[in-house]
Amino acid sequence: HKPAARQRVCILGSTGSIGTSTLDVLSRHPDRFEVVALTAHSRVDELAAQCLQWRPRWAVMATAAQALDLSQRLRAAGLGTEVLHGADALVQVAGHDQVDTVMAAIVGAAGLAPCLAAARAGKRLLLANKEAIVVGGALFMQAVREGGATLLPIDSEHSAIFQCLPEDRRTWPQRIDHIVLTASGGPFRSRDPATLAEVTPEQACAHPNWVMGRKISVDSATMMNKALEVIEARWLFDLTPRQVRVVIHPQSIIHSMVVCRDASVLAQLGTPDMRVPIAYGLAWPERIESGASQLDFLGLANLTFEPADAQRYPGLQLAWQALESREGSTTVLNAANEIAVDAFLNRRLRFDQIARLNATVLERLAVPADAAASVEGLLALDGRARSLAGELIRTGRI
Ligand code: NAD
Ligand code: MG
Repeated sequence: HKPAARQRVCILGSTGSIGTSTLDVLSRHPDRFEVVALTAHSRVDELAAQCLQWRPRWAVMATAAQALDLSQRLRAAGLGTEVLHGADALVQVAGHDQVDTVMAAIVGAAGLAPCLAAARAGKRLLLANKEAIVVGGALFMQAVREGGATLLPIDSEHSAIFQCLPEDRRTWPQRIDHIVLTASGGPFRSRDPATLAEVTPEQACAHPNWVMGRKISVDSATMMNKALEVIEARWLFDLTPRQVRVVIHPQSIIHSMVVCRDASVLAQLGTPDMRVPIAYGLAWPERIESGASQLDFLGLANLTFEPADAQRYPGLQLAWQALESREGSTTVLNAANEIAVDAFLNRRLRFDQIARLNATVLERLAVPADAAASVEGLLALDGRARSLAGELIRTGRI
């Protein structure tokens, strides 16, 4: 069918860090984009304010009570926004035929079902929600292919790799020797590893280079974020686990690199600002103003690189371990980590126990041979891994 004059955008998780950065980019281009759906999990006030500004056709909250609250406020303000609630409503708006582009900015595996709906409906799918592709794996990529969706990475590292590669994916395997994901090392890069047991949620959430949601902030501190990104890269770029490498680059200026067969290295650089990959995903294959400031080369003191120390970041190697085990193991790793981070943020688990819990769950949970054959199988596995992680935390057998 004929595309709408303006791209009609649905933002899943519009009240979060990526969601609000997306709205910031959209506000610079009213001629190109129109917001048709906004969704939030718990913050009614913030979604109400966003709806008043953007006048979307749909708004989605988690529960019926929140939806009623929001809908009364919007009606009082004279808005015609239809307010829906629950996981099914996310699937409904993400796959709706009046939506062209879906920004997937929900945190965690909760974003998988709406991502799959957008993929199957052939949307332009802007993927920030890395947990969705880590959980969905091959089935996620299959839904993208079969639905004819355009999958554009938003994670800054994967956007960097994507920006370094030509449009024709068929040329990628022949070009790429391996890729190097850069990592900042998080807030504890030079802290004495012996003191990591004392880290508080506040300390873990204070990232040196980026302001982000709490879950990804903790993941950056443990480098489980990089582990998830290794798995994400394996699927996005169809690489073997060994073709994905990681190096610490504390300045976060080089966002990642492609090392080609001929030893030429392509890198993407810029100030650390998520509006750059967001603008790229929104406008691809064109480029639009993002609001980010330009890199001042003469102001850069130096760009440094160091290996990720396995003792400081024991969670990182679990990515390769899971990728080399039976398919479904990455689903298990992600589920364990979601439970671990939540427990840490609620002070039921120590910081240094996060990676240990993830390793224990990965080791203990037997993945059935056909677990990754269906989304239902993967979600069942996700549920089992969550139960096991919860039980290990409760009983202290980490
Ligand atoms: P955030 O916590 O700031 O926002 C999450 C959003 O999702 C909120 O709008 C929240 O209402 C919604 N949400 C949370 N749980 C939900 C649920 N169960 N069902 C429906 N909606 C739910 O998180 P963020 O930092 O914006 O990160 C979002 C995703 O983007 C994550 O997967 C993260 O790893 C990824 N990402 C973030 C950044 C960043 O700079 N923040 C960078 C790269 C990738
Ligand atoms: Mg990233």
